[in-house]
Amino acid sequence: MLRPRRAPRTDAPQPDPFDPAAFPGLEERRRIGGAARARWEAVLAGGGPVLADGAMGTMLFAAGLQFGDPPEVWNLSHPEVVRRIHRGYLDAGSRIVMTNTFGGNRMRLGLHRLEGRVAEINRTAAVLLRGEVDAHGGGALVAGDIGPSGAIMAPTGTLDYAEAVDVFAEQAAALIGGGVDLVWIETMSDLTEIKAAIEGVRRVAAGIPLVATMTFDTRGHTMMGVSPEQAVTALTSWGADAVGGNCGNGPDELVGVVTRMRAADSGALLVAKSNAGMPELVDMRAVYRSDVAEMAAQAVAMRVAGATIIGGCCGTTPAHLSEMAARLVGDGPDSADAVG
Ligand SMILES: [Zn+2]
Repeated sequence: MLRPRRAPRTDAPQPDPFDPAAFPGLEERRRIGGAARARWEAVLAGGGPVLADGAMGTMLFAAGLQFGDPPEVWNLSHPEVVRRIHRGYLDAGSRIVMTNTFGGNRMRLGLHRLEGRVAEINRTAAVLLRGEVDAHGGGALVAGDIGPSGAIMAPTGTLDYAEAVDVFAEQAAALIGGGVDLVWIETMSDLTEIKAAIEGVRRVAAGIPLVATMTFDTRGHTMMGVSPEQAVTALTSWGADAVGGNCGNGPDELVGVVTRMRAADSGALLVAKSNAGMPELVDMRAVYRSDVAEMAAQAVAMRVAGATIIGGCCGTTPAHLSEMAARLVGDGPDSADAVG
């Protein structure tokens, strides 16, 4: 007996209606994207794999950042340390490197009474990274990093959508003013918040390349219950140029997320930036157990699962990224032989 056609997945609904003017389609983005889009398309032209970078926070803590202090302030107070970290990832082979601006929005900076310094901090971070990229030959892309607002969206929480768009637009404007090639929105759990972030970016730079990644750390879903299928469908429809997962419980879980995204969307450009395993608390410090060899093997598994842009998140260092680069080199589109 013939198997019945598979019913549509119930966990991959169509996204909410949205205003196309706020989320321009690919043709429109290409038309207005300018030099930044040309650089993005040049790096992606070979089809990947493209190595992203590894952790910033982990490296800053190792350099003396104290728990609870805002890492973004180090762009101003310790620029040589931030530049050295970027240089480590460029030396490892990273082609997409992220600014030290994860918490650089006015809500998170406001916890440290720094809400008035969003422009200065983000612009400086972009200039620091651009300086290192240029010193390294200029072939890598400068990605402006935008993390969550730190607040919970209404109606569950207090942050309403229009204000969230403003918060993210302010940060994006500073990053873009500092000269980033693309914006990378990461570690999001809530689809409404990441939609606001995308709209904020598009308000200030409608054509700039945009990567959007969420954190799938709760039984294959984000903390707010978003599945990989829902994420890839929604983020692609809102005009993200690449989508995927970052952070989370370790590379083996993220391989599963990439596999599910690829099954739900055969064409999306997929991204995997995993933590080096589950953090364990040792002497009040987070310690990540996945070693260099395991992360490199998992990078190949992510490539086989369908990821094009591959990097590391919390706990990864230039040593991890260097070994990932070595294992991914020579790995073609049908790369199953690279696993052995
Ligand atoms: Zn992380």
